[in-house]
Amino acid sequence: MRVAVVSDIHSNLPALEAVLAAAGNVDAVWHLGDVVGYGPDPNGVVRRLRDLGAVGVRGNHDAAAVGGSEIDWFNPDARTAMEWTRAALEPDALAWLRDLPERRVEHDVELVHGSHRQPIWEYVTSTATARANLALLEQPIGLHGHTHVPVAWIDTAGDVRGRRVADGDELSLDGLPALINPGSVGQPRDGDPRASYLLLDPAVGRVSWHRVAYDIGAVQAAMREAGLPGSLAARLAAGA
Ligand code: ZN
Repeated sequence: MRVAVVSDIHSNLPALEAVLAAAGNVDAVWHLGDVVGYGPDPNGVVRRLRDLGAVGVRGNHDAAAVGGSEIDWFNPDARTAMEWTRAALEPDALAWLRDLPERRVEHDVELVHGSHRQPIWEYVTSTATARANLALLEQPIGLHGHTHVPVAWIDTAGDVRGRRVADGDELSLDGLPALINPGSVGQPRDGDPRASYLLLDPAVGRVSWHRVAYDIGAVQAAMREAGLPGSLAARLAAGA
């Protein structure tokens, strides 16, 4: 089975389209939340995922978009973009976002946005946090996003290590407990502005990370047109 795993698309439809084209024939698309927020096309991204039959989980931006108090924790630019997103979302897209669960299990793989301990908010950025979350896994493989940085945290007989990954990197997990982050489709923050995604074969525990270029200038222009904060447009080109 070949699954494309996407996360943190953030209303960036050209980035999502580039990823889907590059991934080619897949048996399923799984998303790890933050479908909306920051970017200019929340309805387009939701409809594309819905039409693909993609399954996934709720991110902190999705929770805020459907009216949640998560917006109170956003920095000023994120809050401005979220208020714009709330006004822009059409009823069908809103209903789809509202139905996203905080966790789901697909083919013995656990999906969350932030972490398995705190699905909406926790960032897995340290060995201690990774270890605590690996201990909570009921299946060997957990998938999460939220940091916008692709990484693998692997537990080898109690020795937990984080491994930063780049385009083309591939791992066989061999049944070892692992937390896998595909990076961000729509707003990467690891210094590489290209959209990031993961291919996964859940049956054999094989994962590979991939990057794909897209028309960043077109998205920035759409953001300016929409009146979204300039700093959010600028960071797309920096990948930071
Ligand atoms: Zn995000």
